Formats: sequence, C-alpha cells, structure tokens
Amino acid sequence: MVRAVGLLSGGLDSILAAKLLQEQGVEVIGLAFKSPFFGVKRAKEAARRLRIPLRVVDITDELLPLVREPKHGRGSAMNPCIDCHALMIRKAGEVMREEGAQFVFTGEVLGQRPFSQTKKALEVVERASGLQGLVLRPLSAKRLPPTVAERQGWVQRDKLLGIHGRGRKVQLELAKRYGIEDPPSPASGCLLTDPTYSRRLKDLLDHLDHPSRRDLELLKIGRHLRLSPQTKVIVGRREGENRKIQEMVSAADLLLEVQGYPGPLALIPGGGREVDWPKAAAICLRYSDAPKDRPGKVRCHGRWEGVIETFPMAPEECERFLL
Ligand code: SF4
Repeated sequence: MVRAVGLLSGGLDSILAAKLLQEQGVEVIGLAFKSPFFGVKRAKEAARRLRIPLRVVDITDELLPLVREPKHGRGSAMNPCIDCHALMIRKAGEVMREEGAQFVFTGEVLGQRPFSQTKKALEVVERASGLQGLVLRPLSAKRLPPTVAERQGWVQRDKLLGIHGRGRKVQLELAKRYGIEDPPSPASGCLLTDPTYSRRLKDLLDHLDHPSRRDLELLKIGRHLRLSPQTKVIVGRREGENRKIQEMVSAADLLLEVQGYPGPLALIPGGGREVDWPKAAAICLRYSDAPKDRPGKVRCHGRWEGVIETFPMAPEECERFLL
C-alpha cells in the first residue's frame, strides 16, 4: 500500500490535501509541529475528522535559531516562513522514513501567500529540506513539476488539482463534496506572524542569547515594558494573567504587588537591575486602583523581600517603556 506523511496544520487546505490522497487509496499519516509559537489543537481536530493517526513533533530547539537569523528572510513579522517550512519538510522526511512511507505532502496552494507560497519559495523549501521530488502539493500539483509520487504512478496526477491564488471558492466547493461541514478557516495561528508578539520576541532575542521556554511563554501574557537592557517588567492585565504570572514565577524573579488596593501583579524575570525596581513599582501602581496623587506601597517577593514606596508612574511615561 502507498503511504504518505502529510503536514497537518488543521486548516481546510491540509484536510483537503489528505482527502484527495485518501480518495486515491493512499494511506495518510498526519504530522503536526509544536513550539511556543504554535500548537497542535487544530491539527488534532483535523486528524480526528480524517480518522488518521497524528504524529506530533516539537521543533522549538531547531526553529529558534532560524527565528533569530533566518537564512531566507522573514514575512511581515518575525515569521521565517521559508526556513520554517524547510525545517518542517525535513522533519517530515524523517517521519516518512520511520513510518515506511513513500512521500510527503502538504496543503500548500501556489500563490496563496505572497512570501512563502510562490513557485520559487516552494523550490527553495524543497532544496533546503533535502527532500527533492518527494513533496507533493495535491491542491496545486498540476501547476508544479511532477513529483516522484506522480512519476511512479503512486498517485494519478490528473486527479490532483491546479489551484492558484488566495481565493477559497474551489476549496469550499470541494469541502462540500467531501461533506465537510463547518470547514475550518485557513490555519495560521502562528504567533510569529503577530506584530505585538513579534515586537516582544525581537526585544527578548536582542537582550538574551539563550531564552528559555518560559521566557517565550511569558511573551504571551500581560503588558511588557523594557526599562533597561537588564530589566523588563511584565504586568498582568486581568485576573487570569495574574494567575499565570504567579504560576510561572521563580525564586530568581522579582514579583511586585500593590498593597492596600486591587491591582496587577508585575514580574521582573531574573530580577533585573536593583536600580530599576522603584520604576517597576511605580508602573505597578499606575495600573492599580491606588490613588494617583500620592505615594503607594508595593510589596516585593522573590529575589528581594521588602516594600517600595513611590508615586504611580504617569501614563505618558509608561507609554515610553511599552513594547
Ligand atoms: S506562519 Fe509560522 S508556522 Fe507557518 S511557516 Fe511561517 S513561521 Fe512557520
């Protein structure tokens, strides 16, 4: 039996690509990647719909150097899509061999994304992944050179598609034909394409050579204010974020909490510079219910136990530090 490993993002395109191959009798194994920048929730749901097994591979350690220094440039934010795709396809090749599969496929559509889904980008990805000829894109196959799977007759090229561009018409019609109710939206959900997350990530990479997973997770919560190269303050915006901060705090951090009034928790990962602590306390007061015309008290825990008394920081000054 012909067996293929498919990159499953969880979006409609990857589901349709799998369906097109299943229709030709190919046994499909799903593959999803996880990292602090994206998860596998939608891929799991897609695998359930398709009734296929799903392999999940964590690529954080290999992806992070590419985020820091992409060989093939970035998309609109910190997303190094071409390098990221090449990494994913290379990993898919490893899984292909482990699973005794013959080829890899993706739900990519030529011309759908201006940076990473041009003909040239797909070629670059394939070359960089070392899997030349073994990557089938069933939704756009007819617009691309025949792959090994087509040349060997494992799949019939004339039953594949030649979709191009950003339109969704063909995909939605196909979803209807396959009885896919409530077709999922195109999957991205990648934080590397999010401008706010990307700004914070860039700041983190500029100030830390080896960020931990916790550092990357912390970028997802609260307001982030950079006070100095050594000191960053993360301020919870609501109850849930304060809880998360509390769960993620370590003994080396400085945790700040306004006394006597409802307010946020503020965290300085790694404790930062002592000279910045009063400023961090002033920021904590700024976002609390404490009166703004007189000094308030902020209790510190972790790296230093004590109380700082200071005026709340003026909103315009806070703005200057916001990432
Ligand atoms: S959007 Fe994110 S997950 Fe997708 S290829 Fe680009 S960097 Fe990788």
